[in-house]
Parts: sequence; structure tokens; C-alpha cells
Amino acid sequence: MTANLLDYDLEGLAAFCEQLGEKRFRATQLFRWIHQRGAARFSDMSDLARSLREKLAGCAEVVAPPVLSQHLSGDGTIKWLFDVGDGNAVEAVFIPEDDRGTLCVSSQAGCAVGCRFCSTGHQGFSRNLRVSEIIGQLWFAEHFLRRHLARSDRVISNVVMMGMGEPLQNYQPLVQSLRVMLDDHAYGLSRRRVTVSTSGVVPKIDRLALDCPVALAVSLHAPNDMLRDNLVPLNRTYPLQELLAACQRYLVHAPRDFITFEYCMLDGVNDTAEHAAALVALVQAHGGGRTWCKFNLIPFNPFPASGLLRSSASAVVAFARVLTDAGIVTTVRKTRGDDIDAACGQLAGDVMDRTAVGKRIAKQRSISITPLRTVPGAHLTGDLK
Ligand code: SF4
Repeated sequence: MTANLLDYDLEGLAAFCEQLGEKRFRATQLFRWIHQRGAARFSDMSDLARSLREKLAGCAEVVAPPVLSQHLSGDGTIKWLFDVGDGNAVEAVFIPEDDRGTLCVSSQAGCAVGCRFCSTGHQGFSRNLRVSEIIGQLWFAEHFLRRHLARSDRVISNVVMMGMGEPLQNYQPLVQSLRVMLDDHAYGLSRRRVTVSTSGVVPKIDRLALDCPVALAVSLHAPNDMLRDNLVPLNRTYPLQELLAACQRYLVHAPRDFITFEYCMLDGVNDTAEHAAALVALVQAHGGGRTWCKFNLIPFNPFPASGLLRSSASAVVAFARVLTDAGIVTTVRKTRGDDIDAACGQLAGDVMDRTAVGKRIAKQRSISITPLRTVPGAHLTGDLK
């Protein structure tokens, strides 16, 4: 069977090289070619012995999921739809800012958690992504952007595991992918600039703290269990007190001294002054009086099946004021890529069920997608600057 080398972290690649009768250090060379230089053809890897290149060509490949479509927003955000087979597709979104480039990465095709305000949750769960399908999103995006921006240095400085899926329910591939992101022979991202976002899988939060502590964001969305049970069904398994206690334990290992709480603002559901006051009381009851969390308020992106509405701008401002008055750093997320359905909670918003995804993939395959390397670089460069 042909091995996809995007499935390996450095340790795995070293074991693979040993199986081929090669020294382990060859793995480092190979790893750099793949991840630092974006090489997919062994024949391009000029400092590897010809015998090794030939051996690899016979048993290995470097293949990211094929790109079905690319959408470029007026604000420079780019969304890619990747085909992961069997009628499933996942999305990654690149968000350029003045001081950073962030890639939002998917971890599962669909999601089993089923949060009410999330279009991915409404789509249902298909399957976990492999390492090559997770890291393949970064590999493709980084090297695509470098080519089209004519840059040799790193374009993507931050990764947020906030795309489709609950990352901690695809634990082992997630951790292996994080190791590749952090590895100095690959992307060399700082732990502080890689964020795992979870709806609150408590046992896996504890494991991540030991296995690969990166920045942690928790989708909170409610100040009490009754409301959170309704919005984030996983709360029935891991209620708020358990979740916040896990956050405290995580902080001991975390690269940052705070946890980010994501809070989707839903009109009349979780956005009143009473909800804000209850939230302050909830977080102040943990952390022994120190400041240990930040809030990110997210304007809801409505979709018909949710039956929910976006909070008014004045409600968001008033809510934020209650939190900041209590000394909690609070930001309101800027919506990016609204015009291409790339804003938070909109991923797969137009592919609401798997049948629809399958039909769309079939349709797009039949019209044969234009290779992305033919997209005019000047167009992208202009928009991304
Ligand atoms: S918000 Fe996250 S955990 Fe909840 S359904 Fe959507 S993808 Fe899954």
C-alpha cells in the first residue's frame, strides 16, 4: 500500500524510513522538503540520494485532499473546500490581518456534537479526518499562498482548530497534526499561536494538557447548565462546573495564562444583562480571584434551520460592558468573509446534508476544477496585502 507521508509526524516518518532500511536522519530531510518547501515530488528532493528517491517513488506519496473550490472575499479572506471522499467535503479559511495570517482548520467531516447555532452541527457527523487531511489543509494553504504572494517566508503564522468538527473527538490525529505544526523542521509555529477550540470534552482537555499543550479556546455560549444543555448538547455529559475545573487544570500546562471563552450572541436567548452577570459570577467562582480568562463575543451568522437570530449591536455592546466592568478582557469578533460564507458557524452552511455535499462534489468533478496554480497571482496579491 502506498503511504501518504502527510500522515506522519517526524517520529512516524523516522520509523517509516527505518522500515525502508534508511537512517533516521533522512526523515528530517524528507520532512523539511515536504513541509518547509512544499515539495510533493520525490524527484524534486535534490539532496536525497537517488536510490532513496526511487525507493520512495515506489511506496510513498505526498497528497493533500483535492481542492473542490476556492472563494476569495472582498476583505482578503479565502475559503477552500476540500474533497475528503465518499461525498464528504471540509473547509479551511485563511484570514489575513496586518500582523498575522490565520488559518482556520477542520478536524472532522461534519460534527456529532450538534450545537444549535452551528451549521456544521446541523449537517451531522460523517467521519474523523486523517492526519494527512488535517495537516494537508495547512500544507496546501501555506504553499499555495507563498507561490501566489511570491514569498519565501512563512505566510500562515497562526492556526485555529475552529473549522468543521470537534477536534478533541478526533484526538490522536489532532495531536499528531499539532506536533507537525509545532515542529521546527516543518511549520515551526509557536504553541501560543496554535489554538484548539473545544465544546468541552473534559477528559481530552486533561490529556491535551499533558500530550501537547497549545492555546485553548472553549465554546461556552451560556452561563448556566440549563441553557447550555440546550445550546451545546455535550454539556449534558460534561456540565459547566466540570468544564471550568478542567480549564483550571489546563492552565497549569498552557502556553498562555488564560483560556479564551467563545460566546455566540443569540438574540433573546443568551444575550441579556442577566446572562452577562451570571457569566461574571460563574468565572469569578473559579480561578481564586485572579484573571484567568478572556471572552470573545461572536456575532451569530443566522441560517434558516437554526431558528435563531443575531443579537443586536447594542445588546452585544451592553453585554461586553458588563464583562469588562468586572475586569474581564472581552473582544467582539470581527466578522470576516461574510460574503463567501466563511464567517464563524457558516462553514458548510450551504452544504447542509451529506447528500447535498455529494451532489455538489459530483457536479464540481464533472466540470473539472481549474488547477489553482493558474489563478492569477496578481489578483490574489492585490487582495491579500
Ligand atoms: S460549534 Fe463546533 S462542536 Fe458545536 S456542532 Fe459546530 S463544529 Fe461541532
